[in-house]
Amino acid sequence: MTLLAVASPARALVCRACAAEYPLIAQHACYQCFGPLEVAYDAEALARVTREQIEAGPQNIWRYAPLLPAGQDPATRVSLDPGLTPLVRADALARAIGMTGTLWVKDDSANPTHSFKDRVVSVALSAAKGLGFTRFACASTGNLANSVAAHGARAGVPSIVFIPYDLEQGKVVTTAVYGGQLVAVEGSYDDVNRLCGELTETDAFEDTAFVNVNVRPYYAEGSKTLGYEVAEQLGWRLPEQVVIPMASGELLTKVDKAFEELVEIGLVEHRPWKVFGAQSEGCKPIATALHAGAEDITPVKPTGIAKSLNIGDPAAGVYALESVRRTGGWMDSATDDEIREGIELLASTTGVFAETAGGVTVAVLKKLVASGKLDPAAETVVYNTGEGLKTVDAVAGQVGPTHQVKPSLRAAREAGLL
Ligand SMILES: *Cc1c(COP(=O)(O)O)cnc(C)c1O
Ligand SMILES: [Zn+2]
Repeated sequence: MTLLAVASPARALVCRACAAEYPLIAQHACYQCFGPLEVAYDAEALARVTREQIEAGPQNIWRYAPLLPAGQDPATRVSLDPGLTPLVRADALARAIGMTGTLWVKDDSANPTHSFKDRVVSVALSAAKGLGFTRFACASTGNLANSVAAHGARAGVPSIVFIPYDLEQGKVVTTAVYGGQLVAVEGSYDDVNRLCGELTETDAFEDTAFVNVNVRPYYAEGSKTLGYEVAEQLGWRLPEQVVIPMASGELLTKVDKAFEELVEIGLVEHRPWKVFGAQSEGCKPIATALHAGAEDITPVKPTGIAKSLNIGDPAAGVYALESVRRTGGWMDSATDDEIREGIELLASTTGVFAETAGGVTVAVLKKLVASGKLDPAAETVVYNTGEGLKTVDAVAGQVGPTHQVKPSLRAAREAGLL
């Protein structure tokens, strides 16, 4: 079945590797070369979009519907209406790491299920509905599970979510509470993903949209809103540098694509931008390839506390390399201790409590400044993609009450509080 979406600017699915074209169906890999498929748009439809039109739209990602493949008609949306999250000026953080230019934190933990995944899921499931699917699913490193289960609950559509069995309790509970099926798989995320790929080929799953498998091209487009939104919040201006966490690498490539589109259709003026990628030491296949000057990604077995980023065989890795090389950015990685420090540094300087992925990104930002790869004087946006309360164990051992006193003035005085 082809996507039913009235007024959608999407034109076709195009292979990112060989440029073969396909209709807008539920397919994610090219039949000719197995390359990943991406949504292509009608250039004239995009060129008609204006700032005024977007500004008059709803206070969520759907203000960018004229630039997305699905959800133009509100009645066709499957959505928790995420987006328009705070862009926080982070002067104290900038000072702490030696930056003199303006630093912003895009705090995408402020979404309905507390991560940027609500953006991609809203777009994927709106497309899935237009493609006739009647059940929602995903392979998840944690946050996607939360979001798919919540979207299913809101829409009254059954969901079945697959996760690695050793996920943080804070991500298991915040998925299970929505009441769908939750399958803990005895393996890594990459095993979960492979299983989900096999399930989509079975008759029993014919009615099921796996947001990041068979409808992945639509899912990926949702990430563009994190680029559009930053540009709009800066007063229709591009930042000079962005620092983005990478799991599959998709988010990074789509923020870059969003900036390109905005320039192409004339919604912002061209200003060169550099894209920087962040991974953890325990799972850095994309950064390793960049540092080695390699064209291909060698898969790894992920370890470490940044579980939401633990994809050892990243689907968009080579395209993330391409974005970073083309724009003159760089990538780096953070150890578990540096991730914990990053979480505390961000919280204590901006009042934003990030999950481990945010700790990775802030730690890598700091490293990039120290190594001179990132210009400390240029306007920079660092993306926090998830909420600290979901991975509270990461820092629970190192922060706590600074004092413990009996409930009396005397005790307070003895403890040095007055
Ligand atoms: C999924 C996820 C990412 C990375 O997403 P990709 O598009 O797969 O690179 C980053 N941060 C958090 C918190 C995530 O859950
Ligand atoms: Zn191809």
